[in-house]
Amino acid sequence: APDTGLLRFITCGSVDDGKSTLLGRLLYDAGMVPDDQLVALARDSRKLHAESPDALDFSLLTDGLDAERQQGITIDVAYRYFHTPRRSFIVADCPGHEQYTRNMATGASTAQLAVVLVDARKGLLPQTRRHSYICALMGIRQVILAVNKMDLVDAREDIYAAITHEYRELADQLGLTSVHCLPVIAPGGDNVGKASSRLPWYQGPTLLELLESADTTVAQAEDFRMPVQWVNRPDASFRGYAGTVCGGRLAVGSEIVVQPAMRRARVERIVTADGDLSEAVAGQAVTLTLDREIDASRGDVIADAARPAPVADQFAAHVLWMGDESLLPNRAYWLKIGSRTVNARITSIKHKVDVNTQAELAARRLDLNEVGYCNIDLDHAIPFESYADSRTLGGFILIDRTTHATVGCGMLDFALRRASNVH
Ligand code: GDP
Repeated sequence: APDTGLLRFITCGSVDDGKSTLLGRLLYDAGMVPDDQLVALARDSRKLHAESPDALDFSLLTDGLDAERQQGITIDVAYRYFHTPRRSFIVADCPGHEQYTRNMATGASTAQLAVVLVDARKGLLPQTRRHSYICALMGIRQVILAVNKMDLVDAREDIYAAITHEYRELADQLGLTSVHCLPVIAPGGDNVGKASSRLPWYQGPTLLELLESADTTVAQAEDFRMPVQWVNRPDASFRGYAGTVCGGRLAVGSEIVVQPAMRRARVERIVTADGDLSEAVAGQAVTLTLDREIDASRGDVIADAARPAPVADQFAAHVLWMGDESLLPNRAYWLKIGSRTVNARITSIKHKVDVNTQAELAARRLDLNEVGYCNIDLDHAIPFESYADSRTLGGFILIDRTTHATVGCGMLDFALRRASNVH
């Protein structure tokens, strides 16, 4: 089968739902556990579970982070790479505790799909709702709901049906457009890498098959956009603008505009490590040379001259607060978007969102892990897209100017005031 690209996904679940076991089993079924590691796994499993000496405890393959968790060390997301003959995967494994919502948001911000795990005995929990809301907020549209521990509810189809029915209602509310559900028994690998004789009423694809056939496209601007990462100027004869195309396509000879200053030029060369291209498309890292010397620097956006990005300095945006100290309106933060950093103030919090129920509540401040819908004021106008159209040009982080810590992430919704130099 052809290689169908790279899928980035995230796994979400509450503690003890079986996340580590499921992920370990997935790696095993994908053939990603080498022999020496299998020998160690058998030995460690025997040591821990004297009552069942022949069973493998797959959670040991992925539980490396647990020690850190127990010591209360703030951890980031663990990214794991694996592949099957059909596709490559990067999975962000995010801890389930509430205090780690910020890590989950980080993992979700680059993912195209979420595997949401629930324990069949418990059904949907507040965490299930919170994780699904955060995934939707961060732009994930595809979810696989894995109802785990089906062996502990006698593999009853009616229990599975009730949970999936409730989840589909939630997914509808959240705008999660593609939802696949399946029953699994993580330790046995039932419906993980192979069909299950213990769950004969389920005839659908396995988890691995669903991951192999998921949509890998991401929301990106239709028109050409490239944030300038750096200006490459090895000598006086060469000046190139390096970056990764984040929307549309560009051909040699195209007319572009450097935003926000709106300087126009034509593309002379599209240079890559593997030689020149006649055309570049979204996802490619390139260096552009132009037909005239113009002033462009890191943070600027090069765009299609006929269809430039809108430019604005006031926005409505969702903000997920990650700071230990509360977000206070009118305090100055650095806002980093694309490759640009500007000064920003949250001028008002319109409401905060109860992440468990999606109810909108009045708020004067945002605390750690809270989500608010805010008005933001920048000291410079920037080219942008709404987050729904472009994660690169619509997603930002907020940085504390004293500690330099990342204290929030946000998603631009729309401009409250457009800059006047754009038509
Ligand atoms: P995590 O905290 O979500 O990573 O959960 P773990 O993977 O550590 O699993 C928690 C416990 O549930 C462990 O004792 C697992 O062996 C057990 N477990 C996980 N999945 C299943 C399942 O499908 N059936 C049964 N019977 N036990 C399971």
